[in-house]
Amino acid sequence: MVAERIDHAAVISRLTAIAGAKNVLAQPEARVKYAHDQYWYAIAAAAAGQPLSRPDAAITPETVEQVAAVVRLANELNIPLTPWGGGSGVQGAANADRGGIVLDTRKLKAIRHIDELSLTCTVEAGLACRDFEAYLNERGLTFTHYPASTEWATIGGSIGARGSGVLSSKYGKIEDHVLSVEFVTPTGEIVHTPAVPRHAAGPELTQLLIGSEGTLGVVTAAVVKLRRLPTRRVFGVFSFASLEEGAEAGRKIMVSGLRPAVLRYYDAYAAAHSLARAVETPLTSPTMVLMFDGEYPSLVNTEAETAFSICRQHGGEELPASIGETWWDRRYVFYYPPYAPELPSIWGTVDVVADFSHINAVYHATTRAIREAAGPEWNLSLNTHFSHWYEWGSMIYARMKIPTGPADLAEAKALHDKIIKAGVDAALAAGAVINDHHGVGLRLQPFMEAQYGSAGMNALSQIKHGLDPKNILCPGKLGLG
Ligand SMILES: Cc1cc2nc3c(=O)[nH]c(=O)nc-3n(C[C@H](O)[C@H](O)[C@H](O)COP(=O)(O)OP(=O)(O)OC[C@H]3O[C@@H](n4cnc5c(N)ncnc54)[C@H](O)[C@@H]3O)c2cc1C
Repeated sequence: MVAERIDHAAVISRLTAIAGAKNVLAQPEARVKYAHDQYWYAIAAAAAGQPLSRPDAAITPETVEQVAAVVRLANELNIPLTPWGGGSGVQGAANADRGGIVLDTRKLKAIRHIDELSLTCTVEAGLACRDFEAYLNERGLTFTHYPASTEWATIGGSIGARGSGVLSSKYGKIEDHVLSVEFVTPTGEIVHTPAVPRHAAGPELTQLLIGSEGTLGVVTAAVVKLRRLPTRRVFGVFSFASLEEGAEAGRKIMVSGLRPAVLRYYDAYAAAHSLARAVETPLTSPTMVLMFDGEYPSLVNTEAETAFSICRQHGGEELPASIGETWWDRRYVFYYPPYAPELPSIWGTVDVVADFSHINAVYHATTRAIREAAGPEWNLSLNTHFSHWYEWGSMIYARMKIPTGPADLAEAKALHDKIIKAGVDAALAAGAVINDHHGVGLRLQPFMEAQYGSAGMNALSQIKHGLDPKNILCPGKLGLG
C-alpha cells in the first residue's frame, strides 16, 4: 500500500512549512477527522473500526499558492492526494482510501468579486453553499443552487460531484451555474478557464473539471451565475390517478418551454410515506409539487397558471397550494435527526437520469429491481420521486432503506451492493445513465465500464493520466486505475 512508504515525520514537516502547523494534522487526528463522508458504507465501516478513509496527513491550505505547493509536494513524494469539501458526498468519493494527504478546502472561502452588471461572482471553492447564499441574500441576490446538504456542501464539492439543487428545473445543475473555474492541475500549475458567456477557443476546460471528483485537479475558485432574489413564488400541488398521467403532465410542462423552479413528482408510496410527513397532510396518490418564481409577478402567474392547466388536462386534482408552501419551508427537515437514517439501517439512493422516451420504463425497471433484490425479511422501503426535470428528460430518485441490516459488516455491504447493482443494472438496461447528481465515488465505480464501454473508459483514462502522470489525485477513483 502506498501509505506504508510514507515518511510521516518528513511529510508533516513539509506540509507545515507550506501552510503552518495550525493547518496540518498528523495521521491519528487526520484519520479521526476524515474517517468517512456520508456514504452509508463509509459510515458503517468507520463505526466497525475499518474505515475506508485512511489519510496519513491532512492540510487545510489558506491560499491557492499553498494548494499548488501541496500538490507539487505530493508529486515529488509520489503520494496520493484527496481533496475534501464538506465531506457530505453520499458515494464515498472523498474518502482517502489509498492513504496519503487529505486536502481540506474549507479555508478557501473568500468571495472575491461580485460583478453587478454581469450578475456573476468569483467565489472560492471551500465556501459552504449555505454561507454563500446567506451572503448573497443580504444583497438581494441568490446563487439558486440549493442542495439539501447546503449546510455542508461546498462550492468545490458541488462541482466535484456534479451536484444539483431543488431549483434545478429552472436554473440548472451546478454545471449550468459555474461559468469558469480556477484549478490547480495534478502537477501543481494554476489554470483559469475562460469566463465569458460562450467561446470557440477550443474545447471547454470548465466542463472537464465539473464532475471529475478530484481526479483532474483541485478547484480553488469558480465564477458562478447569480440571480436577483425572486419577488414572487407561486406554488401548485396536484395529485394524479396514475403515475403515467402525472409524468406526462411533467413532460408537457418541460417540453413546452415553461420553467418551474421546483417540479417534484412523488410516486404513490413516496407521497404517502415521505411527502405526507413533510407537509403534514395525508396523501395517497402520485403527487406533484410545483413552484414558479421570478421578478415579475404577472409573468410568474401566467407561467404557473399555464402549467397548472396542463396538470388539470391530465386529470390532476388540485390540492391546496399551502401544501407546497409547507414543503418549501420544511424541505430540509428530513435530513436532520430524528428523520435522517442511522446505523444499523442500510440506506442509499439510486438516482438515474434518462430522456422522456425512456423515463417511464426506467422508473418501473429500477424500482422493481430494487424491491426484488432484497428478500422480504429485510422490510425494504423505497421512496421514489422524479426530483429534477430537464428540457428533454427527467430523473428517478429512488431512496431505499432497510431498517435493520445484518450485524456483520461484510454481509451488510453485500446486501447493499446487491440492491444497488440490481437497481443500476436495470436502469442502464432501460436506457438511463448511472447517476444524475451524486457522482460516482466508490459506490458506483464498478458501473463505469458498463456506462462508458472500454473505448470510453480508455478515453477518460488517457485524459486522467495525461494530466496526472504519477496518478496522484484521487488514484483509482472514477474507475480510472
Ligand atoms: C443530507 C444530505 C443531503 C444531500 N442533498 C443533496 C442534494 O440535494 N443535491 C446534491 O447534489 N447532493 C446532495 N447530497 C450529496 C452531497 O452533499 C453532494 O454530493 C455535494 O456536492 C458534496 O459536496 P462536499 O463539499 O461535501 O464534497 P465532498 O463530499 O467533500 O467531496 C465530493 C467530491 O468532490 C471532490 N472535491 C471536493 N472539493 C473539491 C475541490 N475543491 N476540487 C476538486 N475536487 C473536490 C472530492 O474529492 C470528492 O471526490 C446530499 C448529502 C447529504 C448527506
